[in-house]
Amino acid sequence: MDRFNELKAEGIQIFGEVGAWAYDAWNDLNATCFDAKNLLGPICWIMTPRNKSLGCYFFSKNIIYLYKGLVRPVYPTNMPKWCLDNLNKRLARDVLLHEMIHQKIHQAGGWTGESSHNNERFVDEVNRISKLLDLKATAKVIQSKIIDGKRTRCVEPGYLTLEETSNFPYTTRSYDYYYSYRHY
Ligand SMILES: [Zn+2]
Repeated sequence: MDRFNELKAEGIQIFGEVGAWAYDAWNDLNATCFDAKNLLGPICWIMTPRNKSLGCYFFSKNIIYLYKGLVRPVYPTNMPKWCLDNLNKRLARDVLLHEMIHQKIHQAGGWTGESSHNNERFVDEVNRISKLLDLKATAKVIQSKIIDGKRTRCVEPGYLTLEETSNFPYTTRSYDYYYSYRHY
């Protein structure tokens, strides 16, 4: 069994159909956005978002974590039923895409700069993928200036803020894209 099927089988064992979905989505995104060059690692679903983020890339083990809250609570029980029908697939796919940018950068030698989002390689990826998906968002490394003794980030007009870059692409989509209808 190759690595993909091996990891996907593990994902199914632990996370069921949602686990399987994540590997298939990863594979599809790898082909469409990354020239099939990312190397797969485990994709795990966790209860608590890390750093308030919906996903996380743990580079030393090549693990992508996705937040279980991407499976939405369903009325009237208010408890999310863990099934593929309740997964916000559009949002989860974008979170996965974001983590795959970190994965690509790490596997291609890492980054240097202020942070894992505010650096040349990350903003280059944001711009490349933004074009690919026709998202009309442009990012640039944000410089800081000392204004009144305080370090202040200076975002040039027309560019993504650090918050937007750090949550690309899900901050650049419209709310409707994720929530207005149910065919996620
Ligand atoms: Zn990130």
